[in-house]
Amino acid sequence: MTATLMNRKDQIREKALRDLQQFQVLMLDGHFDFGNGYHGQLYLNPHQLFRYPSTIWRFAQDLIDMLPASVLDETEVVAGPATGGALLAHTVAGLLDSRRAITGSPTIFAPFMVDAYRGPGLSRFYRQQLVGKNVLIVDDVRNTGQTLARCATIVRSADGKVIATAELYDRIEATTDAGAPNFALAEYKAPENFPADACPMCKAGLPITKF
Ligand SMILES: [Zn+2]
Repeated sequence: MTATLMNRKDQIREKALRDLQQFQVLMLDGHFDFGNGYHGQLYLNPHQLFRYPSTIWRFAQDLIDMLPASVLDETEVVAGPATGGALLAHTVAGLLDSRRAITGSPTIFAPFMVDAYRGPGLSRFYRQQLVGKNVLIVDDVRNTGQTLARCATIVRSADGKVIATAELYDRIEATTDAGAPNFALAEYKAPENFPADACPMCKAGLPITKF
């Protein structure tokens, strides 16, 4: 990889972190009451990504710019877990085709339905779409990495090949590996949260951030 390309990707990543703050997806310097007895400085609201469809289109363009050429060339299916990951996957699949020759096969989209108890699942129709295909799995946010890993297991069980995973924002707290290269548009590790009765921001008299 050339130095120029590295710089360009660093620039895109820095800009994405600023954009996530501007669109209030990511709030980095507040004093948030999470309602579970803890206070902290960082609040993440993925719903803000999808409120205005143009927002997700912008971030999807930037995410595509972060992916290696091999992933862009080889992806045949873009899949993502409902709701945020599926909306992103749909957008990325469409945008990939806008950068490719019109004579090629159009990129397929596949949504994983997420059940609160059983986790992600894929309908029989979409499982059939994945057979023998190269699949890129995307999500809005990567927390523990477990959702992406489960989606990857489903793709493999449907005889698809996971060539990469990607997300708009990585909390850098992943403990589970999806078994494929992972690419993040933006990444930022949240500072420590505190029990409300031991919160240094409360002690300093900072008001709770309203949002
Ligand atoms: Zn506090």
